Amino acid sequence: MTLTTSLDGYEVWFATGSQTLYGDETLRQVAEQARHVVAGLVDLPVTVVFKTVLTEPDGIRRLALEANARDDVIGVIAWMHTFSPAKMWIAGLDALRKPLLHLHTQANVELPWGEIDFDFMNLNQAAHGDREFGYIQTRLGVPRKTVVGHVSNPAVRAQIAHWQRAAAGLAASRTLKLARFGDNMRNVAVTEGDKTEAQLRFGVQVNTWGVTELAEAVDAASAADVDALVAEYQERYDVAPELRAGGERHASLRDGAAIEIGLRSFLEDGGFGAFTTSFEDLGALRQLPGLAVQRLMAEGYGFGAEGDWKTAILVRIANVMGAGLPGGASLMEDYTYDLTPGREQILGAHMLEVSPSLTTATPRLEVHPLGIGGKDDPVRLVFTADPGPAVVVAMSDLRDRFRLVANVVENVAAPDLPKLPVGRAVWRPQPDFTTSTTCWLTAGAAHHTVMTTAVGIDVWRDFAEMAETELLVIDDDTTVRGFQREVRWNQAYYRLAQGL
Ligand code: MN
Repeated sequence: MTLTTSLDGYEVWFATGSQTLYGDETLRQVAEQARHVVAGLVDLPVTVVFKTVLTEPDGIRRLALEANARDDVIGVIAWMHTFSPAKMWIAGLDALRKPLLHLHTQANVELPWGEIDFDFMNLNQAAHGDREFGYIQTRLGVPRKTVVGHVSNPAVRAQIAHWQRAAAGLAASRTLKLARFGDNMRNVAVTEGDKTEAQLRFGVQVNTWGVTELAEAVDAASAADVDALVAEYQERYDVAPELRAGGERHASLRDGAAIEIGLRSFLEDGGFGAFTTSFEDLGALRQLPGLAVQRLMAEGYGFGAEGDWKTAILVRIANVMGAGLPGGASLMEDYTYDLTPGREQILGAHMLEVSPSLTTATPRLEVHPLGIGGKDDPVRLVFTADPGPAVVVAMSDLRDRFRLVANVVENVAAPDLPKLPVGRAVWRPQPDFTTSTTCWLTAGAAHHTVMTTAVGIDVWRDFAEMAETELLVIDDDTTVRGFQREVRWNQAYYRLAQGL
């Protein structure tokens, strides 16, 4: 089964609330105007399908159950064009298991002041119909996104687009199977976590396979398949002469290609969308998988190094949320700093495994020794991430919950790095290096992150809301004192919100 990262197969349902009190003519107008609102929802990544005008509790509950049952329906948008007494919504909202967006809009932009009679008032009363709906959502504790404004406003549609992308990320995580080859790196704390809780919270199945099984799949790669893949590498990348056909280290490239073929077949046969490796557990593999992992991440797979399944989940979700947009998503690791006062920068990389989706340049394909792991020199793609906006997100397990921490950053042009043969990024964090790093450490956020250049912080906020997971954001509005207070308050809030 080939992995799908596109949003094309998904849809979002649109439901309009009303009641029977107004009579058929008004309900006909409600339906017509709701269709018009839906027709105005253009330039969105996921198709919005108008369902129906809901006027009684059983229809609302059945619509929620129908949405729950459809894997391709990733969310529901609700709008109360007229007044829809909200006790009608209790059973439906209680049953709904899909992300909800409350669109607080109306059919018209301007009011036709000279024409307004009481029929107009009865038809166009979202201003209080949606307040009734807001009340019941809050009363029931329904996680949702509230978007306010006319659909002709691009800022309104942009918020809906962000929510759709987040919903696609959640849908992908709820069907995600993650294969771990080996366990976590020995003695590392932050990559540990509760895999059972992850399956309940995010829907991800996290399970382990012996690296022997992967090595068998690599051994099964045919010479013809290796030839074809090597040809693709030579076409697509700037391949170092020593690795090219006839070059003295060409065998290393062939070993790298066999690893990619074996890994891909294992993942496809098992229906996996994410995986981890461990340099401490490579069995009969000749190299630590570098090139193969980089290419699979760029295709949409999630990946975490050293057994880090939590970051692998984030990379997969980020790939889905950013589908079709410029930029990409990758495992990233904060490595080392330039502490020049006022110009502080972070150099991030990994041993090998950074996704080339972070660059628009042609990566160089090289082979170099790796000091750890005790294996042959691994092949890898070498490049620097494009300058531009990015977000880094980490997930920690705090024992009673998962915590996401995100930092809004700016990737900058890197100085020449002639002796650093790995994929890397250089960035400046918001609001400044000291605040960002103090807050990151205060939050207990990990050294592994997903770096995404395709989607911004708004999409992550929506994702955290719908996954009911804590998210601490470090951006231009952040101060250390405010952040420390938020961490303390969250500690209490999340425990209370889980029930006593
Ligand atoms: Mn690492």
